[in-house]
Amino acid sequence: MANDLFNSFMTGPDEQGRFGDFGGRFVSETLMPLILSLEEEYEKAKTDDSFWAEMNDLWTHYVGRPSPLYFAERLTDHLGGAKVYMKRDELNHTGAHKINNVLGQIILARRMGKTRIIAETGAGQHGVATATVCAKFGLKCVVYMGAHDVERQAPNVFRMRLLGAEVVPVTSGRGTLKDAMNDALRDWVTNVRDTFYCIGTVAGPHPYPAMVRDFQAIIGKEVREQMDAAEGRLPDTLIAAIGGGSNAMGLFFPFLDDKEVNIIGVEAGGKGVNAKMEHCASLTGGRPGVLHGNRTYLLQDDDGQILEGFSISAGLDYPGIGPEHAWLHEIGRAKYVSITDVEALEAFQLCCTLEGIIPALEPSHALAHVMKLAPTLPKDHIICMNMCGRGDKDIFTVAKALGFEMGNFG
Ligand SMILES: *Cc1c(COP(=O)(O)O)cnc(C)c1O
Repeated sequence: MANDLFNSFMTGPDEQGRFGDFGGRFVSETLMPLILSLEEEYEKAKTDDSFWAEMNDLWTHYVGRPSPLYFAERLTDHLGGAKVYMKRDELNHTGAHKINNVLGQIILARRMGKTRIIAETGAGQHGVATATVCAKFGLKCVVYMGAHDVERQAPNVFRMRLLGAEVVPVTSGRGTLKDAMNDALRDWVTNVRDTFYCIGTVAGPHPYPAMVRDFQAIIGKEVREQMDAAEGRLPDTLIAAIGGGSNAMGLFFPFLDDKEVNIIGVEAGGKGVNAKMEHCASLTGGRPGVLHGNRTYLLQDDDGQILEGFSISAGLDYPGIGPEHAWLHEIGRAKYVSITDVEALEAFQLCCTLEGIIPALEPSHALAHVMKLAPTLPKDHIICMNMCGRGDKDIFTVAKALGFEMGNFG
């Protein structure tokens, strides 16, 4: 089935950057030349062995790839059904999958002769990964972060500053991730000559969604090899949490043409996918519109105003979703579900005590869906979930949600 060119799910996007009705390049005239030169450079790099040799060297020695594929034996026994494997991307340098992509974009920036890197960040994970790689290469780094998030995510703000980055609090709009991304785009058009915009997920105008996916696809490529070594076959079901959708696209993409593999994305259901929009489930609770240069499913009100959404997990509260997911949803190749805060918190605790792994709240959403699904499946069914981040950053949030007093650490 794989590589059947006439029936492949892996050939997108088209030349305009579209995945079906989604994606594209909705940008101002001033941004267009920047996007086009980035696309040209990326197209060159994609088939350049020296580019991938540099990536592989840094993935191995700086990030710590390949990340292990781990059979979660006690969790599997506890759930009493399908065999559960975890792809351990939380063991990467900086504690999540974000660095896979940042490395690719910054190597590209260096090839383009850019000396100043800008990024947007919500919870701060992408900002920390970007500040880290900029320090490693001696590049100037400016991170746009909503003023509201700067307050909520103080430890990551300090990390970025330790790493030598400038953090710019964004007060426009509601001072969250969406506004930070708008300000980063504005910075880019005013600093055309020396600046490279490093986007943190499979969003933004073409070629970002495809480029970020290609960098994150190392996750799924490794899973194919590692699962073959462990079980001698492909997994039956893949499950990953979705904010913008980059860790999920990275796991899913190399399996899209293996039609027998079930693919499930898990959105943040917050307090429940309800009319009050106290969730971040863009696909299960939103509708199509244009944001940040591409057409996709968005959380919006009746007038098309973008809504902020709500989730216990700051890394999942992006009001949109990568356009390739919107397309996979519409054609039915992947299925999308949502998990509430309460369910994610339960999964978080179970993972700590059964596996000795403190997961980030984002993959706790994926794990919560594994907990629903595994008991309904036979013992020879193999599930692989992406453990895309570690939970150190979330312990204060979890303590608060569970009613623990953290004393002076709060
Ligand atoms: C940023 C982040 C996410 C959400 O981003 P995606 O692009 O959807 O992967 C999920 N998990 C972790 C650990 C993150 O840091």
